[in-house]
Amino acid sequence: MKRKLTAFAAASIFLAAASASTAFAIQKTKSEPLFAEKIAGEKPSERFGFTRAQWESTLVELPAFIRNAIHADEELFFKEMEEILDTHPSFFVHIDAQTPVEPIDCRPADLVDLSSYSVEINKPMRLRKAAAEAFAALSQAAADDGIRIFAVSGYRTYDYQKRLYDRLKTDVGKAGLPVSAAPGHSQHQTGLAVDFNSLRQNFGETKEGRWLQNHAADFGWSLSYPEEFETLTGYDYEPWHFRYLTAAACRLQKRFFADIQFYLTRYLHDWYGFYKEFRINE
Ligand SMILES: [Zn+2]
Repeated sequence: MKRKLTAFAAASIFLAAASASTAFAIQKTKSEPLFAEKIAGEKPSERFGFTRAQWESTLVELPAFIRNAIHADEELFFKEMEEILDTHPSFFVHIDAQTPVEPIDCRPADLVDLSSYSVEINKPMRLRKAAAEAFAALSQAAADDGIRIFAVSGYRTYDYQKRLYDRLKTDVGKAGLPVSAAPGHSQHQTGLAVDFNSLRQNFGETKEGRWLQNHAADFGWSLSYPEEFETLTGYDYEPWHFRYLTAAACRLQKRFFADIQFYLTRYLHDWYGFYKEFRINE
């Protein structure tokens, strides 16, 4: 089967900036059932409704070590997939240097002001509601361990990212990678990404950086640009930049995707395309 690269339901949750005067609540509609409703309670191939060969076709572009990990425990894989597929697909949208959000100037519909949450921020900041709640939970747990975690950057609009990019695009980082994402290509535009504490390469070795490495996933936060994966992600190592993915997706990432967010979101991106195609063909 041809690989589906079209964006999935992002348009249903992200509003085009041009017409974004009113926020609306996220709702499932009858015409767009979530996977879990459709697949609950049956055996893997039956519960997903498609054949093994069709499913295998979703795995072909993954590295062999990930395919092997999935094949080694398919039952757990499908169980964990079911759990994350209860969540709206906009939480798993894949963005990289080649793949922008769609539409490119969209914004999330459920942004909240972080000033109404018990979190520390160094300037006014917004995130999607679920990410704000997960940040508050993470902050509290860190504080309980005597660790101070605060946010220095959250949601960014397309226009803000464009200004930032235009200002910085002549600068490159140490690996020759751009220091700022192009507008439409920043995870910050999803309202799910946060830069914590310090934008310094050695943040990962501080006690705050280490605490995040060990505990962020428990609260649904995933490191987006890990060390030694610069070529894959297109970004220098950023020990401060985390993306809210849900705790269930972080477990899936760790168990089956070598704990590399890029592989997980790339897979889910294709999976939703595959599912859409399958459903259309029904
Ligand atoms: Zn960032």
